[in-house]
Amino acid sequence: MSSSTFPRMTIDIDLLAYNVQKISRLCHENGIELVGVTKLSVGNSQIARVIRQNGADKLGDSRLKNIVKFSQEGIAGPYQLVRIPMLSELPMAIKYVDEFLVSMPQVVYEIDTIAREVQRNVEVIYMVDVGDLREGVWFERAVEEIYEVYKNLTFINLKGIGTNVGCYGGVLPTKENVDTLLSIKKELERLLGYELAVSGGSTVTLKMLEEGKLPKGVTQFRIGEGIFLGTDATGDRDIPYLSQDTVILEAEVIEVDQKPSVPVGNIGKDAFGRTPHFENKGMRKRIILAIGEQDVKPDGLKPIEKGLEILHASSDHLIIDTTNSEKTFRVGDVVKFRMNYGCALRAFTSPHVEKVIVNG
Ligand SMILES: *Cc1c(COP(=O)(O)O)cnc(C)c1O
Repeated sequence: MSSSTFPRMTIDIDLLAYNVQKISRLCHENGIELVGVTKLSVGNSQIARVIRQNGADKLGDSRLKNIVKFSQEGIAGPYQLVRIPMLSELPMAIKYVDEFLVSMPQVVYEIDTIAREVQRNVEVIYMVDVGDLREGVWFERAVEEIYEVYKNLTFINLKGIGTNVGCYGGVLPTKENVDTLLSIKKELERLLGYELAVSGGSTVTLKMLEEGKLPKGVTQFRIGEGIFLGTDATGDRDIPYLSQDTVILEAEVIEVDQKPSVPVGNIGKDAFGRTPHFENKGMRKRIILAIGEQDVKPDGLKPIEKGLEILHASSDHLIIDTTNSEKTFRVGDVVKFRMNYGCALRAFTSPHVEKVIVNG
């Protein structure tokens, strides 16, 4: 490895491949197609290729730019745009996206029109909101709206229906909300006369599959977090058969000192409008790392070394209490962390965090 700088994150390509293989096996054993969702990695083609080559049947991304990049760099599709599209991006999207998630008649008609003009067949999955309150037609209106849309299509295929849980409302997937989706599928199939795909899940839905509790009829999962992090934020767990060490963040120590645990002076608000609170624990051993809010979400950092307590982060500095650690820290040392989803998202997105692909 040449001159890599800190902060940096290492992405272990073998562990990434391992996670995809595990998830794809679980999906495929249950007759489910796996869309590997790459949005976390901000268009990194090497990562996308590994995900596609190790069991993902399709690649999904929320940003058209990433899909265009993958396509131009020769990464195999098909590609699913996992965010319902902006009208303004449709002319470009039609050229690269194979499968759209949609939630409004107006948008589907626009896709239909543009696809007909350029003679490129694309598929749409109509999103149904079963209660999480993010995208999708409200489930009580779904059959009526989707049937009406189907009747008005002139060129593209209505491939199926889909849903999203755990995103806004934090709603967990249950037999009840999956059954709601499946009863909509049944009714629509009767009206349309053909079988519909059901795109039914994200990382949080894996649990139902593991426990054999997923009702029959779901045909596709869209998985991101589980592949990258081996965790399930909505279900609040480490997924036991996946690796949590695929993505590791490393930051460098720039100060080592002992200071009081309570500041000296009058307390105002911190740089982010927060009012800090302090408990007097006497003098404490502390380190400062050259990383901050611009690079990570500090409350989503999980130090690998035991006994480290994250005290505070500003834009560029992270303060850690090391009093309970057995390790003696020196300036120039590197401290390693696992990250939760939100923190990893910021780290992948920050231009200040170097990304280094490593092998097992
Ligand atoms: C991000 C996203 C996913 C993947 O979710 P994970 O929790 O990362 O597995 C699936 N579907 C949609 C619509 C998404 O935006």
